[in-house]
Amino acid sequence: MNDQQKMENIVSLAKRRGFIYPGSDVYGGLSGTWDFGPLGVTLKRNIMQLWWKMFVSDRDDMYGVDAAILMNQKVWQASGHVATFTDPLVEDEVTHLRYRADHLLKDAGYPVDGLNLADMTKLIRDNNVKSPAGNELSDVRTFNMMFKTTVGPVDDESSVSYLRPETAQGIFTNYKNVLDSFYPDLPFGLAQQGKAFRNEISPRDFIFRSREFEQMEIEYFVDPAKWEEAFEHWRQQVWQWTEALGLPTENVHELEVPESDRAHYSKRTIDFEFDFPIGREELLGLAYRTDFDLGNIQRESGKNMEYTVKGTNNKFVPHVIEPSFGVERALMAVLSSAYTEDEVNGEKRIFLKLPEHLAPVKFAVSPLLKNKPELVARAKEIYTSLKQKYGAVMWDDNGNIGKRYRRQDEIGTPNCVVVDFTTLEDGSVTVRDRDTTEQKRVQPGEL
Ligand code: ATP
Repeated sequence: MNDQQKMENIVSLAKRRGFIYPGSDVYGGLSGTWDFGPLGVTLKRNIMQLWWKMFVSDRDDMYGVDAAILMNQKVWQASGHVATFTDPLVEDEVTHLRYRADHLLKDAGYPVDGLNLADMTKLIRDNNVKSPAGNELSDVRTFNMMFKTTVGPVDDESSVSYLRPETAQGIFTNYKNVLDSFYPDLPFGLAQQGKAFRNEISPRDFIFRSREFEQMEIEYFVDPAKWEEAFEHWRQQVWQWTEALGLPTENVHELEVPESDRAHYSKRTIDFEFDFPIGREELLGLAYRTDFDLGNIQRESGKNMEYTVKGTNNKFVPHVIEPSFGVERALMAVLSSAYTEDEVNGEKRIFLKLPEHLAPVKFAVSPLLKNKPELVARAKEIYTSLKQKYGAVMWDDNGNIGKRYRRQDEIGTPNCVVVDFTTLEDGSVTVRDRDTTEQKRVQPGEL
């Protein structure tokens, strides 16, 4: 199975088994949007809850917020997004289809790191690079990726707003509120999870590049003199996160982003890349945003964003370390690490080797035969007690046992419990391990 086949198999399994469907599928879809089905939403929430536990609930220096998606347009002017949140766009002169210039050039084998618009246009002209349809290309120009909308019944410039392209600004605008409510010691952080929207020129690669996706972001406020220490702390935390997701360490890579490729607000960025089946691509980012955002807010709003160190007159606008995580990319990394094919009794088997704490279903419970009321009754009892304890338990009595195992393997259920005739004699059930396919007999209390 090569990488492309693997990706196709994952997309197909995700749809077939109720993890992820193309958005608006019955109407022919809407490019760059995806809907999560019953298992997908559970897997996604398990990832998000793990993150919240690790980075908010388990720590003493973190505060959660949940800001509105629609924000005053001044937020996006001050943050620089109206002016500079753009991607390089190039147009096919005949079909008028638009492409991301850097992706087009990269796919054609040209290095694009650090190139500006004029450089890319020159590269296209010098090498006579054509569109995928073989036509001439326009000059490269910028395209703002924010979705614009209007708020309220009057459609004029003052009512313009944007669907947020990052959750970060909803954190910065609440920094002062949290400071006034809690007066935390520095360093402290604010965390938020939620939707972000980017009008990507060419969404692609399954959920990797979508137009609507979910982010989990932390803005960690520090004394400017101590930013390096905090950056290192979060670098280590990111590694712990990838470990908690069960991603193989050898598939995660740090990329120190050169200045020419950094976002407008960043003085240092490390992209954490992952070996996806689509290639080595960004999983998440870690950036030193300095006092760029709080400084802008202070200037544009006229409100003081300084922090006063307790018991002193020492005041400054804190600097910020920002680890920024994409939920869909985490999910895609988890799925691609988990997707496994092997052979059992001479037959091909597909299974998701999901870490148990992320698996959407922890136990499947079956009676060996569904037409034996005494087996069904006993299995129901065990199912109910496991469900009370773990929640994520599935009742499965469709088809023969072999088929049930295959179905549970495909959705990554780590344990399949079967009630058979021996259960009626000594109470024990069989439990089958997803990865080894080994079965053992245990008492239900040991599950
Ligand atoms: P890329 O270079 O791949 O477009 P980016 O550098 O623009 O990503 P950031 O602005 O750093 O991304 O966003 C932080 C995180 O949000 C990314 O690391 C990624 O996990 C996620 N993310 C960004 N854009 C998308 C998207 N279009 N679809 C899914 N996730 C995304």
